[in-house]
Amino acid sequence: MRIAIIGNGIVGCATAAWLQREGHQVIFIDPLGPGEATSFGNAGSLSPSACLPVGMPGMWKKVPKWLLDPLGPLSVRWWYTPVVAPWLWRFLRHSNRDEVVRIATAMRGLLAPIFECYEPLLQRAGAMGLMTRSGCLYVYSGEAAARQWAWGMGLRRNLGVELRDVGEEELVNLEPDLKGRFRFGILAPENGSTLDPAALTQGIFAQCERDGARVVRARATGFRQSGGVVSAVTLDGAEDVPCDGVVLAGGAWSARLARLLGPAIPLETQRGYHVTVQSNNLGLRHTVMAVEHNLMVNPMRMGLRLAGSVEFAGLTAAPDYRRAAVLLERGQEMFPHLDTSRTTEWMGHRPCLPDSLPVIGRAPRAENAWFAFGHGHVGMCGAASTGREIANLVAGRVPQIDLSAFAPTRFAA
Ligand SMILES: Cc1cc2nc3c(=O)[nH]c(=O)nc-3n(C[C@H](O)[C@H](O)[C@H](O)COP(=O)(O)OP(=O)(O)OC[C@H]3O[C@@H](n4cnc5c(N)ncnc54)[C@H](O)[C@@H]3O)c2cc1C
Repeated sequence: MRIAIIGNGIVGCATAAWLQREGHQVIFIDPLGPGEATSFGNAGSLSPSACLPVGMPGMWKKVPKWLLDPLGPLSVRWWYTPVVAPWLWRFLRHSNRDEVVRIATAMRGLLAPIFECYEPLLQRAGAMGLMTRSGCLYVYSGEAAARQWAWGMGLRRNLGVELRDVGEEELVNLEPDLKGRFRFGILAPENGSTLDPAALTQGIFAQCERDGARVVRARATGFRQSGGVVSAVTLDGAEDVPCDGVVLAGGAWSARLARLLGPAIPLETQRGYHVTVQSNNLGLRHTVMAVEHNLMVNPMRMGLRLAGSVEFAGLTAAPDYRRAAVLLERGQEMFPHLDTSRTTEWMGHRPCLPDSLPVIGRAPRAENAWFAFGHGHVGMCGAASTGREIANLVAGRVPQIDLSAFAPTRFAA
């Protein structure tokens, strides 16, 4: 089949690569180059442990504070509050314990096979060197602080995530740069990361091109369809692209196109920021998640990346780089000896659903269109397994993962 893939972020690229393995012809449609949107600057963590949703029990108590602190870890720009309020309400309704267990169980299914789903793609692309399996350390100021997050960690353990408590002495042995600030840690030894998320995306894309993928640099505007069958993708300022099937992997920009193929999907963007310290003089070996600081720290090949922050302000508002400055300040608190003389900053649009689950499945109103978007905070983690499952669906096979929680129809009511 000729399959048009709308979006060449990590989800579109990984999906294309899995489809090519089945013998399909792939046509990428995107005005941007591969991995130039959200897949460019994320924290690069590849974590089978990252199955918890963003909305956790008790979060509702923090809403008033979010609204008052424009530079806090989670903020809403005041003018965007009425736009996002219904979405936030749904988000909070998914944050009770029963929902969190349901969501985490589904996400664990998607994330457990991260490495088995990436490896064949990266091996073929000659890009295995961009993926490491060095583990992630969740770090805390002390054991008492860690107890605040114990329920979530217990849920991860119940779902089969390997986690090991690490006392202060061992923590300093594992990561001498953490000395003095952190007295307790939890090691997720199975976790990995990428040394460069943009290069990983571009590596898979380049291999798809070598394997015959066509590339159309234009924005998709809609579909030619009749009788529930899509026959072409229509483009902005370019000729239609005829196809036998289409995968919508447009990240945070997918909602309008998805609406043409099914009921409305409440896709929102949680904007996030990074600072990359190019003058990095630390010797970190693990990804470090400073839980109380809400900060992920990852040693990458271009420097030490500090990433985090959630900002609700839609798809078009200019970045507020004071939020990146806050990330750097937190990094300096964690590592007072960090050389911060050379840094770069960035903002990206996480594609998010109120239940923190992506949308993976056949489009409700077209038999040859599939949705693969909305991976929120874990799109690098979930892209390759999403790609494998889309290939299963296109082939008419039973998916290897239970996809029911990701159904595109779940918001229809
Ligand atoms: C600060 C930050 C840190 C993060 N850290 C991590 C992490 O450590 N681990 C992790 O797993 N995830 C992380 N994420 C999340 C991850 O980056 C995203 O989930 C992932 O990049 C989404 O990939 P995507 O392919 O869906 O979207 P994108 O990479 O945004 O790609 C979407 C593509 O679709 C194209 N497109 C959109 N509309 C159209 C259209 N109409 N026609 C044609 N093309 C279109 C866009 O141009 C774009 O190229 C982080 C995100 C942020 C912001």
